[in-house]
Amino acid sequence: MVQSAVLGFPRIGGKREVKKATEAYWADKISVEELQKVAKETRLARWTAIKDAGVDVIPSGDFTLYDHVLDFSNTFNVIPAKYAQADISALDRYFAMGRGRQRGEVDLPAQEMQKWFDSNYHYLKGEVSSNTDFKLINTKPVDEFVEAKEAGIVTRPVLLGPITYLLIGKTGRDETNASFQPIDVLDKLTPVFGELLKKLEAAGATEVQIDEPGLVLDAADKLSEQFTRTYEALAKAAPGLKITLATYFGRLEKNVEYVAKLPIHALHIDLDRAPAQLDSVVAAIKPTKLSLSLGLISGRNIWKNDLAASLKTAESVIESLGAERVVVATSSSLLHTPVTLASETKLKPEVADWFSFATEKCAEVATLAKAITSPAEAKEALEKNAVSIKARRDFEKNSDSAVRDRLAAVTPADYKRASPFPERLAAQKKVHDLPTFPTTTIGSFPQTKEIRVARAKLGKGELTTAEYETFIENEIKSVVEFQEKVGLDILVHGEPERNDMVQYFGERLAGFAFTENAWVQSYGSRYVRPPIIVSDVSRPEPMTVRWSSYAQSLSKKPVKGMLTGPVTILNWSFPRADVSKEVQSRQLALALRDEVVDLEKAGIFAIQVDEPAIREGLPLRSVDWDAYLTWAVESFRLSTAGVKDSTQTHSHFCYSDFNSIFTHIIALDADVISIEASKSDLKLLSVFQEFNYPNSIGPGVYDIHSPRVPSQEELEQKIAAFLGALPDQKDIFVNPDCGLKTRGWPEVETSLKNLVNAAKWAREKY
Ligand code: GLN
Ligand code: ZN
Repeated sequence: MVQSAVLGFPRIGGKREVKKATEAYWADKISVEELQKVAKETRLARWTAIKDAGVDVIPSGDFTLYDHVLDFSNTFNVIPAKYAQADISALDRYFAMGRGRQRGEVDLPAQEMQKWFDSNYHYLKGEVSSNTDFKLINTKPVDEFVEAKEAGIVTRPVLLGPITYLLIGKTGRDETNASFQPIDVLDKLTPVFGELLKKLEAAGATEVQIDEPGLVLDAADKLSEQFTRTYEALAKAAPGLKITLATYFGRLEKNVEYVAKLPIHALHIDLDRAPAQLDSVVAAIKPTKLSLSLGLISGRNIWKNDLAASLKTAESVIESLGAERVVVATSSSLLHTPVTLASETKLKPEVADWFSFATEKCAEVATLAKAITSPAEAKEALEKNAVSIKARRDFEKNSDSAVRDRLAAVTPADYKRASPFPERLAAQKKVHDLPTFPTTTIGSFPQTKEIRVARAKLGKGELTTAEYETFIENEIKSVVEFQEKVGLDILVHGEPERNDMVQYFGERLAGFAFTENAWVQSYGSRYVRPPIIVSDVSRPEPMTVRWSSYAQSLSKKPVKGMLTGPVTILNWSFPRADVSKEVQSRQLALALRDEVVDLEKAGIFAIQVDEPAIREGLPLRSVDWDAYLTWAVESFRLSTAGVKDSTQTHSHFCYSDFNSIFTHIIALDADVISIEASKSDLKLLSVFQEFNYPNSIGPGVYDIHSPRVPSQEELEQKIAAFLGALPDQKDIFVNPDCGLKTRGWPEVETSLKNLVNAAKWAREKY
């Protein structure tokens, strides 16, 4: 019988209960017991939802109060000394590792966070060294398995695999061997991991899902011995446990050769992100006894699955492997999708009908299995699905042909500024002869409580649009006056009108849909509600021109227009599934190009198009990088190249680690790029020197992520250090390393005064 399986489910609760409870606990508003009660109720609600949907294989242990990778560190005692030594409870220590802790005597920073593969979820990197003393210090996975069992629900525990954990971890600070890599201590971790499997077996588990998404990375190509050794040891440790080895987010490629020989029960592959690998995987496992878990229902997107197509795929595999060796499943954990479509009341029914969130995806998996084992029972659900899919396809076909025609008519010239940078610079100097070491900011000024309150009131109808707009104008006015007073050279309007740098644009572009409650976890208790791209994208009318022009009307100094770039909008939204990301990115670029040109027409001299998400969109395998970077860079160019030489384009990145992608950064051809450089090593800047970066750079002189105010002297030293690292840059822009929206006014005032004075010092000195 073909079973249905769900690899994991959102951990946030249907009404964001987990966020509310953890934050209340951190603020001392509720007790540990109250927090644990919410956690327990949430776990039960998840299991019940999955079971009620008719799913056969239900996950447990994937619930977390912060992060599942942190859970691994916390279960296997990967706890750096500074946390271990703090005199706090185990739970508080866990949260301290996740988010830092400053209380009484204890002052601990958070551990480093990183994006979970190519998703927008962030995990905490395990810090491993040769001294790490792996041991089981709690039994969370066992406890949760037992908890479900006591509630009458038999589950398949989910564990992050030991190899992936080490592969995506980092070396602990106590390590003395410079060439050490976390994977070096794999053989110390394996027996402890085996102990946990034994305990699960003893608790009555018959199967376990071990997630090794690391298998889709280039790094795994060299790990065949490690995988073989480890999984042989694990199979021996708990012979009664059937292991499903789960891979997702990419393709196994050659690794399937060694994976097929592992002593496991089943292999899970992602057929949403990497459908083309199916044939080679089936061929590789056919001669073995392995079962194949088909990840057909996307754990990453929010689109209804085309069940007829999935059924066809499943049937083709059954033909080759036999039904007893096939499982149908979600492609990955559903943690990347919102909990349920039932919470959306404002979507038009015909639009809501396109979507499927976590709860609905569980039903899809169940329907798919049923369609194979007892087709009559699934008939109605399949027919309904076919109607929805057809409606969506019809909509796609009739989506905006004007946008497609426009994209088809784009010529190579549209991607290029009229003249090379030196000529543009000369033309720009004629308009605004900026001093050397020009000062500017990255765009946003403090998003104060008053601003958020005003926006909320507008939403509730307590403020009229006119009243709200007057309020925003006043905000802009005070930000402009402040910048004039401090003496900045290129001003900004401060972005008070923006709720979020992506949502704001999504709401003004045609082709997006918005949800009320479709939250997904970004990290810890931070959840985001990404807009959904549903059709061809265009810009019905100007989005920012009125605010930038208003700001410009208040000053003789140039005001910089501020836009979010096409790649960043795309990467922080749920994309369409019917056209490639490349096409969506180029459509967004054309829409933004209209805005850029309109800003220029309105007399705006400098226009910044932020692309903080370009690098994080890099594909998981390096062979795919060039293709991605080519269209990403072209999208940026398409959005900015419509202006005259005399208009100055800026872009901003929240990082400076461009090492492996530098030629593409040059190819962006922005007149000025501002980057993070206040926290990172100066070595990162040396690539600009090495490649002889031709255009202007604004390396961030201070870290806006901290409330600390940098002194003028400190900023002077930074500028000097930057010039030391960039000897061929005669002058640089002087700016903070990111937007100021999360900061308070008092810090901003002093910091920017010091920044302007430091630039004045540089003008005299160099
Ligand atoms: N212009 C944006 C701001 O200043 C840039 C934000 C970002 O880089 N993440 O807020
Ligand atoms: Zn930034």
